[in-house]
Amino acid sequence: MSHNAKDKNTSAQEYGRNGRYSRQVRFSPFGAEGQEGLARSTVLVVGVGALGTGIAETLARCGVGRIILADRDYVEWSNLQRQQLYTEEDARQRTPKAAAAKARLEQINSEIIIEAHVLDVRAEELENLLTGVDLIMDGTDNFDTRLIINDMAQKHGIPWIYGACVGGYGITYTILPGETPCLNCLLGAVPLGGDTCDTAGILPQAVQLVTANGTAEALKLLGGRREQLRSKLLSFDVWRNEHQEIGVKAAKKADCPSCGSHPIYPYLTAANTERSDVLCGRDTVQIRPAQRRRLDLQETASRLSRLAAGKVESNPYLVSFTEEPYRMVIFADGRALIHGTNDVAAARSFYHRYFG
Ligand SMILES: [Zn+2]
Repeated sequence: MSHNAKDKNTSAQEYGRNGRYSRQVRFSPFGAEGQEGLARSTVLVVGVGALGTGIAETLARCGVGRIILADRDYVEWSNLQRQQLYTEEDARQRTPKAAAAKARLEQINSEIIIEAHVLDVRAEELENLLTGVDLIMDGTDNFDTRLIINDMAQKHGIPWIYGACVGGYGITYTILPGETPCLNCLLGAVPLGGDTCDTAGILPQAVQLVTANGTAEALKLLGGRREQLRSKLLSFDVWRNEHQEIGVKAAKKADCPSCGSHPIYPYLTAANTERSDVLCGRDTVQIRPAQRRRLDLQETASRLSRLAAGKVESNPYLVSFTEEPYRMVIFADGRALIHGTNDVAAARSFYHRYFG
């Protein structure tokens, strides 16, 4: 491998004999033309947990010109086993995943643009992130968000790649608006898996296979090689040694509310009320206030120090404190994570003790 600094910044040298992208450019079905397609592209990665970090790292190394990251959570110790961009220091600091991922990706490839957004991606937030986006990659862990992505992708005619894992199982499928069935068409028609809020754990290798298959599809799509796309729903289980490809063309519904002839995009209708969600396998409830607000975190930290029994800690993105059996983490956008419960009512009552 060459580490010649002079190789930087000119396409010819980047693609040349030992240039940064030479190994994939030398793969002739992709070639320099495919590489230029990647360099011109913008990819939005929604969720940078296990799948999202794998996807973002692969796409950054491959040379996608602009990568936008969005995630609502921060790094914890249990993430380090499979969320490949994070370090122990990120877990100690409770760095938001989007910010930690951006910092690491910039060390990996400083020649591309990386944007990070610490937020809970619902319809409004997603729409605001879509400017110039050529492809959306699913790094989420829940169907609520995937159905919002699906509707928004249809509305704006942007391809997206569905991916999910649980245990040793993984599944992925590439959705092209106007061509393939959408996620809503497939609901109930084929086994989609990955929808369980499972505490049985997850194997990193299942994540890696979904990442590999999804990002290979991204390379074909952004590199202008659409004829190579898989077109089938792919699932496998690395523990049970199973592999399945399902042709789904027939599942496209002419009257689908998301991709049919008269779409109403049912999952984009946002209710302007406080929302509480149990987070998958986390023993955590997220509370999202009705009105988006911009909290002054310093003020919040000092107010909580007077009210809360436990020690209040903060970093530039969040404030946290423990009050047995709960730990609350508050972000600048007003969202709170209540750890230590899956009981929405208990979490809300704890939250409202501190926030009106
Ligand atoms: Zn559909």
